[in-house]
Amino acid sequence: MTAINETHDPALRSWVASANEQTTDFPIQNLPFGVFSRGPGGPGVGVAIGDQILNVSACLEANLLESDAAFAAAEACRSGTLNALMTADRLSVSGLRLELSRLLRDEESGGSGARAAASLLVPMSDARMHVPADIGDYTDFYASVDHATNIGKMFRPDNPLLPNYKHVPIGYHGRASSIVASGATVRRPRGQTKAADAEAPSFGPSRLLDYEAEVGFYVAGSNRRGDAIPIGRAEESIFGFCLVNDWSARDIQAWEYQPLGPFLSKNFATTVSPWVVTSEALAPFRAPARARGADEPSPLPYLFSAANEEEGGLALTLEVLLLTEKMRADGAEPVRLSRGSFADMFWTPAQMLAHHASNGCNLRPGDLLASGTVSGSSDDSRGCLMELTSRGAKPITLPNGEERCFLEDGDEVLMRGSCRRTGFVTVGFGECRGVVESASK
Ligand code: CA
Repeated sequence: MTAINETHDPALRSWVASANEQTTDFPIQNLPFGVFSRGPGGPGVGVAIGDQILNVSACLEANLLESDAAFAAAEACRSGTLNALMTADRLSVSGLRLELSRLLRDEESGGSGARAAASLLVPMSDARMHVPADIGDYTDFYASVDHATNIGKMFRPDNPLLPNYKHVPIGYHGRASSIVASGATVRRPRGQTKAADAEAPSFGPSRLLDYEAEVGFYVAGSNRRGDAIPIGRAEESIFGFCLVNDWSARDIQAWEYQPLGPFLSKNFATTVSPWVVTSEALAPFRAPARARGADEPSPLPYLFSAANEEEGGLALTLEVLLLTEKMRADGAEPVRLSRGSFADMFWTPAQMLAHHASNGCNLRPGDLLASGTVSGSSDDSRGCLMELTSRGAKPITLPNGEERCFLEDGDEVLMRGSCRRTGFVTVGFGECRGVVESASK
């Protein structure tokens, strides 16, 4: 696990004024990496600071980086994706974070190069954010036992949780080609569905479109095919975290999912938040793995380590908000639908990653693993409409009187995440949002 160091010091302030505001997701203690473009220029790697982006390659060209480690990591940022940085060794990435932190500190916080980097800032409002890595493979897990139980209850009231659940991290291989960055519209998928009372299936626009609020993490480094990644080395194989909306068409899913699991109900679009909050930035917010009850099995040895039990979890709060077309027209604010805690997950990211590679499956830098819907035990912590509305049986009434069972055209789903701990500065993830557009558009 990464140690807490001077870059996490809560006393640090930046000469970028917006980074010192209470409400920012991107204080100087965060420094997430992302890929942006501005105007006709090609994409470049940047670091978020307040409402600005610091262009990493430009820092290199302006000779603002001193250590070999930072230099090497900045060189890896030249390609315009984060894959090379996710391949670089951890000390280099950490060295770059340290120098960027020092560059961005104000004089009172001991900043030296100070405003030398001011001309290298790009306002976020002028930039377009991209999917930050060439994602070779995307895997989606199912790590919330509350989500698995709630969903299971709808199909198997007497036996909601399947017998494998508490032994093996359940997942499936998703689709990388349809991963989009926050802000991209999502067209309502067409597909084959069959209502319970229908005699035959039909093909058309999904009527039960849903979101799933998840946490994603990118793979750093790689393992040779045939080699596992031991649980004790899994943390160093996680570059950083983002928010994920695993858009899901429940009617397509219900008809297609047996016996091989979700397919076209999930692979039409997945939205990611564009900033990758590094594992190092999250060091202060680690939490114990979810405690197992006396009646629950201990993880098998390949999924168990004392360090993972003590701090394999992450105290990340994830919120989902909805803005309907009518609300937008009326100038209303998005309404919060749920708030869940990632620390409640049954499996930790390290366990998911170690499990993924345990059979010798080779993971590659830039692969994206997602947690599955983050739901907790309380009603207001359920991370999808399927759970919030009991599969459409209990509609949600919005403040303006509109009702929702599932998403309608024009609905915008927004996800926000943050990590808080007394004595540290809150770190946010930026937005993960997308608007549903009509299937016939
Ligand atoms: Ca999912």
